[in-house]
Amino acid sequence: MNNLVSHWIRPEIRALSAYHVQDASGLAKLDAMENPYTWPEALRDEWVELLRRTDVNRYPDPSAAGLTRRLALGMGVPEGMRVILGNGSDEIIQMVCMSLSGPGRCVMSVDPGFVMYRMIATFCGMPYVGVPLKAEDFSLDVAALRQAMDEHQPAVVFLAYPNNPTGNLYDEADILEIIQAAPGLAVVDEAYAPFADATFMQSLGRYDNLLVMRTVSKMGLAGLRLGFLTGPPTWLDEFDKVRLPYNINVLTQVSAEFALSHKSVFDEQTRLIRSERERLAAALAGLPGVTVFPSQANFILIRTPPGRAGAWLDGLKARGVLIKNMHGAHPLLTDCLRLTVGTPEENDRLVAALKAL
Ligand SMILES: *Cc1c(COP(=O)(O)O)cnc(C)c1O
Repeated sequence: MNNLVSHWIRPEIRALSAYHVQDASGLAKLDAMENPYTWPEALRDEWVELLRRTDVNRYPDPSAAGLTRRLALGMGVPEGMRVILGNGSDEIIQMVCMSLSGPGRCVMSVDPGFVMYRMIATFCGMPYVGVPLKAEDFSLDVAALRQAMDEHQPAVVFLAYPNNPTGNLYDEADILEIIQAAPGLAVVDEAYAPFADATFMQSLGRYDNLLVMRTVSKMGLAGLRLGFLTGPPTWLDEFDKVRLPYNINVLTQVSAEFALSHKSVFDEQTRLIRSERERLAAALAGLPGVTVFPSQANFILIRTPPGRAGAWLDGLKARGVLIKNMHGAHPLLTDCLRLTVGTPEENDRLVAALKAL
């Protein structure tokens, strides 16, 4: 049995560890960039009534036409661009990689960056090339990226804007330079767009190789699993062929369309999170020995005094707060912790616990 497994499971898959999610029971969950707010009661009642009238004996609308229109409208997709939906944007990254994989084709991004680019490239049998960000401020090293693109000819370059886990927005001109120099696709991943005042939506169609990816996870619908890719139909028509039929289930379609028809509720939650982000960043900056990195997302990366990240993670957990330890994930993240912005009460608890430590 073991021989069969080691003979047939690809070595790069055997070398992986499965995506690990920390147990959060009983803790303030500030580890996964979720929106901390739930829905008002009246909205819940309306939603449940809608679900009550939803039949699950039939397959869902295969193209999710109503939801797609609502997303395109709500997220400012320009006229003439096609939209395809994924079961989370992770599934979209997978569709892109599946369509591009083949001998001599690699995936490129920056490190430290979003881990799923590397993971999914590996699932699809593609080498991953990660180009280090600049150590001072996590900005793009354009010269290094140009050189790496020259050398490796990546089929796709993924850039998260703002970046996870660093939280910063790259310089717009740097990204445009990379889009223009890329030999293949350039996908700008705007998972944190609700928390930043920047987007490449308006650049779609201006470059042959530019696509934009979004998700509803970070704006407050992480449980629904819904992301989308948008850009010129010539690309999107191809990716649509590898999309599994009915990949967006009927409960997600109904619930997301309903939620987006009440977008003002989520916009208000986003506004609260953004103002809490500023308050939390200021409080963190007041802690001795802590470096706070600027964030345009719904989380903040900090650097603890040398060698303290693990102890702080444990100390916070003992005080009821769960965060993410980034120490060890990449040399540029030495002594770093990533803190999701929570409710004012959760953020106060986090700061009080850090002070106690
Ligand atoms: C969270 C995150 C995603 C994943 O989004 P899902 O739609 O929940 O799969 C994509 N990109 C980045 C950069 C993220 O941080």
